[in-house]
Amino acid sequence: MSPPTNEELQRRALAHIPGGVNSPVRAFRSVGGSPYFVARGRGSRVWDVEGNEYIDFVQSYGASILGHADPQVVESISRAAALGSTFGAPTEGEVVLAEMICERVPGLDQVRLVSSGTEAAMSAIRLARGFTGRDRIVKFNGNYHGHSDSLLAGAGSGVAEGALMGSARPDSAGVTAGAVADTTVLGYNSVPELDETVAVVCVEPVGANMGLVAPRPGFLEGLRSECDRVGALLLFDEVITGFRFAVGGATEMFGVTPDLWCFGKVIGGGLPVGAFGGRADVMAHLAPQGDVYQAGTLSGNPLATAAGATVLARLDRAAYERLEGTAERLAAGLSEAFAASGVPVRFPRVGPLVGVFFGDGPLPVDFGTAAESVALGRYPEFFHGMLDAGIALAPGPYEVMFPSLSHGAAEIDSTVEAAARVAAAMA
Ligand SMILES: *Cc1c(COP(=O)(O)O)cnc(C)c1O
Repeated sequence: MSPPTNEELQRRALAHIPGGVNSPVRAFRSVGGSPYFVARGRGSRVWDVEGNEYIDFVQSYGASILGHADPQVVESISRAAALGSTFGAPTEGEVVLAEMICERVPGLDQVRLVSSGTEAAMSAIRLARGFTGRDRIVKFNGNYHGHSDSLLAGAGSGVAEGALMGSARPDSAGVTAGAVADTTVLGYNSVPELDETVAVVCVEPVGANMGLVAPRPGFLEGLRSECDRVGALLLFDEVITGFRFAVGGATEMFGVTPDLWCFGKVIGGGLPVGAFGGRADVMAHLAPQGDVYQAGTLSGNPLATAAGATVLARLDRAAYERLEGTAERLAAGLSEAFAASGVPVRFPRVGPLVGVFFGDGPLPVDFGTAAESVALGRYPEFFHGMLDAGIALAPGPYEVMFPSLSHGAAEIDSTVEAAARVAAAMA
């Protein structure tokens, strides 16, 4: 029997999975066409069910930093699986991963492991409210903190396709006005004046769900001092930046220490994990010690903690230098390829991440300016041109490119050559 084609799987997926996907951005809605179904991956590459090979810059939206199917990670998962995959009792693996996370991030005393970034952010918000006794949360338009109700306003990424501007209007049907009544949505990169109703300010220290938007100098420092002035907590959502930008993530990179952190993606080594953490006095408010309830049957799962620990152990300073060098070569190469074609586009780089903004003029600094670039409507053509040339990018204009440690000079050069042909066709 011959293996199924992409088209056949898409037809079957649509019959029994809403929209054919288990996470909306995978559905190609914003670029047109229908998805390739991945059969396997290795390092920087993925192969679809029809045997087409792609250099992959999706890398599970940053969950995979070593590249796919890293032999050490595969080995640690198999070893853990053979010992039993979940127990409902504490394991050594959880202790090891928590130690590794806290050792690396300056100012972080304790973490609780959960199963996704969404769960981490949702729980961190509850903890902040419980700790401060205040209701209001502040977030920034275009920052994504997962899909829990109170954070699903101005949330960028996949939900930005139909984004409602302004504050505290839900991004999604089914989220009540009440659920976001205590959520204030503000513009990224401008330090707000807070008051004493604010429990927590949530921020992506580098915006990576509205394309790639760097924090302006002084933005994170300004949030820190405004939070201190009114007694609010500062939460860095490092689900993307954590363990990707530096050993100590964006916290180390920018030298600003929040009170609470969220992690996910990299720390699970490709398995479902999230974590939230903070200062010991804040974390003491969590159950079973404190009165803020939070729990999870599969939290701190042995397979996930084994994979995560294996990945973190590999991420030393040299690894980050290499990753950043790769991103540098990619951003420079893409810019050059497009400069020759005359198609106006910017490829911003922050640390190891590369973004794509069509148009010219200054780089976007917030969701509004990012949306202006997306409105030019050129991303779908770029995306499909690259895909046809064997380069897989995220199928949405608000995502970023995630080079991994498996992407070498050869992969970057092939990507840049493909981009030069796509640019010429787009001119
Ligand atoms: C991906 C992401 C999340 C949500 O994580 P999930 O594991 O998809 O629930 C939260 N915050 C940021 C910044 C993210 O990029």
